[in-house]
Amino acid sequence: MQSKNEMKLEFDARSVNEGFARLSVAAFIAGENPTLDELSDIKTAVSEAVTNAIIHGYDDPEQKVVLCCRLEGKTIEITVEDRGKGIADVKTAMEPFYTTKPELERSGMGFAFMEAFMDEVQVISALGEGTKVIMRKRIGV
Ligand code: ATP
Ligand code: MG
Repeated sequence: MQSKNEMKLEFDARSVNEGFARLSVAAFIAGENPTLDELSDIKTAVSEAVTNAIIHGYDDPEQKVVLCCRLEGKTIEITVEDRGKGIADVKTAMEPFYTTKPELERSGMGFAFMEAFMDEVQVISALGEGTKVIMRKRIGV
């Protein structure tokens, strides 16, 4: 039988929670016996998406980031959502080296890493409404 499992976490938009989010996802998929490379790719992608929600989505650390993981067979789907500022032009934002925070020594590579490390990355965003990043990857194949 195909394995199926789901989880949802909601946490403060504080940078301390980047580590919490990546370890939570790693723990969630541990039972699927991912390779170390797969695990490292997924943890990096989660970190990038969660960091973006915290740094770009909100100014107030008491706002919440929602992380959902859904396993269906060998595919993991991870969703990172904020209800913050949103992105005016998603296509431009996803281009390598594009950043609106160069002063924070951001390199503009977050979305590029997510796309490199996951099979599929989808971004749904609207100004003033927030951003939802949906990432999928087949593991243990
Ligand atoms: P890096 O990830 O390399 O530190 P970065 O975060 O600027 O730099 P990306 O992660 O590729 O680079 O994001 C590109 C741009 O997209 C950001 O500079 C920001 O303007 C916008 N952005 C990304 N995620 C969000 C979000 N959750 N809410 C609002 N804007 C976002
Ligand atoms: Mg980023």
